[in-house]
Amino acid sequence: MESVKTDRTLFIDHEAVSALGLLKAGLLHPVTKLMGSQETEDVLRDAQYKGCSFPFPFILSPSGITNEKVLSSTAVGETLVLMCDSVEVGYIVVDEVFEINPKKRVKQIYGTDHESHPGVKQTLKRVGNYAVSGDFHIDYKEALRAKQAIQKAKESIDAKHTTAIMVAVNPLHRAHERLIRQTLDNTDLVVLYLLKPYTQDNLSFEIRHKVLSYFVENFLPQNRVVIVTLEHSYIFAGHNEVILDALVAKNYGCDRLVIGQHHAGVGMYYTQHSNQSICDRVKGIDIEIKISNEFVYCNECTTLVSTHTCPHGKHHHISYRSDSILNLLQCGIIPPVVLMRKELSAMILCELFVGRIQNIDKLYHDILPSAGLIEEPSDYDFYIKLIELYQTTSLT
Ligand SMILES: [Zn+2]
Repeated sequence: MESVKTDRTLFIDHEAVSALGLLKAGLLHPVTKLMGSQETEDVLRDAQYKGCSFPFPFILSPSGITNEKVLSSTAVGETLVLMCDSVEVGYIVVDEVFEINPKKRVKQIYGTDHESHPGVKQTLKRVGNYAVSGDFHIDYKEALRAKQAIQKAKESIDAKHTTAIMVAVNPLHRAHERLIRQTLDNTDLVVLYLLKPYTQDNLSFEIRHKVLSYFVENFLPQNRVVIVTLEHSYIFAGHNEVILDALVAKNYGCDRLVIGQHHAGVGMYYTQHSNQSICDRVKGIDIEIKISNEFVYCNECTTLVSTHTCPHGKHHHISYRSDSILNLLQCGIIPPVVLMRKELSAMILCELFVGRIQNIDKLYHDILPSAGLIEEPSDYDFYIKLIELYQTTSLT
């Protein structure tokens, strides 16, 4: 990027960089620029922008004393450098600076300003008292690259319908597999948006990406599935998520969005309202939204079923809760294969517990069948064979 001749700087975080990147790449259309004070008021009043649902004003209001000093003393037309983690990431030409109320801002985003909400405390720290609008440049190419990858995939199979699914796959289990396959039955191309949050409480993004890619490459028609990274910043938080997901998917070129029942933005509304009311909240965004049925394992049907098609009661059902399956993996326990495909469990355990199996050769050769075939078994080979052994039953 060409350097800008100014020593006045705004310090922004990675979340702001990714949000500005989405805006610049046209993925939040019809919002194509930072909102000024008048637009901010309009969006606050109507929750719409140019006839399209938009849950809160899209503004840049970085916190911190230095930022506040700069913003309160800037003039129209001044260029400010944008820095993130000591790296120059862009610049903004100031059009307007106006005061905002950080607490109100947080409430607009999360629907609450109560600090017990996990996002509220975090976001309060990053929202300042002033917002700035104006033309800007940002070094963030990921969104554009993803857009091009989707376009290329669509052209290569001449896709008529492209369906978006937002996935955390933390971890990828059998109900995810079913959701993806069922979606593929009804569309030409599936775009899996793998969410990349800014918190580290989960399986790392790298492991989740590796596992999802392995599944797509080995078990799905590869030319009909694209994996795209979606940095999951504060703009997707809480009850606004469905609106932003729909908008981003539409602008990436998808004409359908499939939402799983455990989707955060849905869960909150799903319990209280019908499907219809969720879709009603998404106005002016030309995309078909479908909420998938819930999948469970039924021990009477002895298979994965939709709760709509199984006559047995809840007490026969095992639900696919990612957090509980993740809990098993974090304890080093292999999840049953009805919950998770063995290759995927093995990959994750290898990543979570590097080199933990001592004397693997002896263990492998002593307790596993066809032991002679592999001379130096890896942890992965060991897990796979062990899982197969768990599934072996005695005939007597
Ligand atoms: Zn059943």
